[in-house]
Amino acid sequence: MVIIALDYICNMQKLEDNFKHQGMRRKLVNTLKEKGITDEAVLNAIDTLPRHYFLDDTFLKQAYSNMAFQIGAGQTISHPYTVAFQSSLLEVKKGDKILEIGTGCGYQTAILMIMGAKMFSIERQRYLYDKTKVFLPKIGYKPKLFYGDGYIGKEAFAPFDSIIVTCGAPFIPEALIKQLKPGGKLVIPVGDGAVQEMKRLIKNEDGTVLEESYGEFSFVPMLQEKE
Ligand code: SAH
Repeated sequence: MVIIALDYICNMQKLEDNFKHQGMRRKLVNTLKEKGITDEAVLNAIDTLPRHYFLDDTFLKQAYSNMAFQIGAGQTISHPYTVAFQSSLLEVKKGDKILEIGTGCGYQTAILMIMGAKMFSIERQRYLYDKTKVFLPKIGYKPKLFYGDGYIGKEAFAPFDSIIVTCGAPFIPEALIKQLKPGGKLVIPVGDGAVQEMKRLIKNEDGTVLEESYGEFSFVPMLQEKE
């Protein structure tokens, strides 16, 4: 995995989306298809959302390659493949109420909004929360954003059709399962090392939980209270 260190990402210089950008996005979509992403709604969202808005101008080319980037506060925006993979696992239906843990730059949040989800997202880094809260509405997306701890979810807005965790969780937080609707899905990378196992938990109507595994991914850690 290649990570470019850069501290001023999320500082959009100009919001211009021209043919060149659109062509680069088309190529990225083809790469994702070759890697096995088939969900048309996911591919359409990636084709629609200018990823370079979320990065600095200098990194235009890299914005459309399958790379993770530093977004400040020591955090990264996920690889496009990871965003596409997690979004596919959610099997989003229009109008779904989705809670995201780890807003970061808001790229994943906006992708799910394009797919028709009503988004709620929690970020524990004040710096990123403050930036993304201003930035997303500027480019036309108005999710409900919260500054807080993802481990406890968002009881006041529960239950959710799905919950997506975009940081590596050392364990599966019980509160997140509780806040799912019956039939709801939790997509979460689990593991406390550099590599996590992508899990999808489906809450059955009777409250039992079905757990599926989808291979290894690498995320920044889901931090606990005092870290
Ligand atoms: N979805 C983001 C990915 C950001 S990386 C995107 O598309 O860019 C993961 C994010 O999870 C980081 O911003 C990090 O600060 C945040 N995070 C880590 N631990 C958290 C916690 N306990 N609660 C909420 N957010 C957390």
